[in-house]
Parts: sequence; structure tokens; C-alpha cells
Amino acid sequence: MTRGFFVGRFQPFHDGHREVVEHVAEEVDELVLGIGSADVSHTVHDPFTAGERVVMVTKAVDDVDVPTYVVPIEDIDRNALWVSHIESMAPAFDVAYSNNPLVARLFREADIEVRNPPMFDRDRFEGTGIRHQMLVGDEWVDHVPDAVVDVVEEVDGVERIRTVAEDDGGDRWEAEEE
Ligand code: NAP
Repeated sequence: MTRGFFVGRFQPFHDGHREVVEHVAEEVDELVLGIGSADVSHTVHDPFTAGERVVMVTKAVDDVDVPTYVVPIEDIDRNALWVSHIESMAPAFDVAYSNNPLVARLFREADIEVRNPPMFDRDRFEGTGIRHQMLVGDEWVDHVPDAVVDVVEEVDGVERIRTVAEDDGGDRWEAEEE
């Protein structure tokens, strides 16, 4: 039995993430999805809470072929302990999926196999772009699963992004997204 682990901030979970999940599901028997930066919300970079993202992701993958568990993972201030921190929170896993060089290195140093998930239609499916589309009123619903639209509407997420962007001041959007 092989259990895979895929971590992302999922701000928000979009159709590219969903494609990665489908790809990974073909290689593993079970999948753990880590909601990274679970302690962060209400900023332009990370607008949605861990709980909101748990609902988004859980509903968006409920028809995936393998059992899938969604686990919030808070950031910690010591990279060297981050994999142990994940292992203390998540079901045990055999292989981690990430394209993030730091994330991959931390897993490899912990003797965990790392595989690189493919990128899917990165021009359309990219968290920063989708958050910006929400901010300025451009079309974004076609880029995310229906379950994500439901959560964003339920929590008035578009207005939240506009409010925190205003609160941050105009320049902050640019700074946080760099
Ligand atoms: P992320 O911040 O969610 O994503 C980083 C970038 O990679 C984003 O632009 C993301 O796009 C993109 N990306 C993710 N998966 C992709 C894929 N399959 N194809 C193309 N692009 C992809 O970072 P992450 O590596 O996915 O997740 C890392 C999480 O671990 C973060 O929450 C981070 O804070 C946490 N972490 C914590 C520690 C610590 O606490 N010490 C250490 C390391 C990592 P989208 O924006 O479109 O998703």
C-alpha cells in the first residue's frame, strides 16, 4: 500500500491542483492533502482560513478514485523540524509530491521519496492570478472546482480579499505577491 502526500497553500484550491490530485491518484493507493500555512488567513496572499480550505479541498476531491485525507499543517519557524511536524499531524505516507525546491529538500533529508507533479495549464490555473481576478472583478469561477466557488460565496471571500487589500494599502498587494 502506497500513501502519497501533496502539500500546498491552496489559496484557493484550483483546477490545476485538482489535475495534480488526479495524476497522483493514479500512482498511489491513498492520498493525504496537506493544507500548508494553515495558521495564515485574511491577507491578500492567504485570504482563506484552514477550515475554509479544508471544505474546499474535501468537496473538490470527493470523487477521486483513492481515499483522500485533508490535513491542515501550520507553518513553524524551524525548517529543519517541518517534516517531523507534518508527520506528527498527518497519516503516515511513503512519497511526497512537490515542485518546491525547499519542500523537496526537506523531505529528501528526512529520507522520504519525492516526486515532481506535472504542471497543468499554468497560464490559466495559478493561485496568484486567481486571487487577483477576484480582487479586480475579472472572471475566476471557471478556474476552480464548483465546491470552491460555493465556499468563496459562503464566506463572502471576494469582498474579504478586497477589504484586506484596502487595509494593506495599494502597495501591499504587489509586495505580498512578489
Ligand atoms: P505554495 O506556496 O502553495 O506554492 C508555491 C508555488 O508553487 C505557487 O505558485 C503554486 O501555485 C506553485 N505550485 C504548487 N504546486 C504546483 C504544481 N503542481 N504545478 C505548478 N505549480 C505549482 O507552496 P507549496 O510548495 O505548494 O506548499 C508548501 C507549503 O509548505 C506552504 O504552505 C509553506 O508555507 C509550507 N512550508 C512550511 C515550512 C515551515 O513551516 N518551516 C517549510 C516549508 C514549507 P499556486 O499558487 O497556483 O498553488
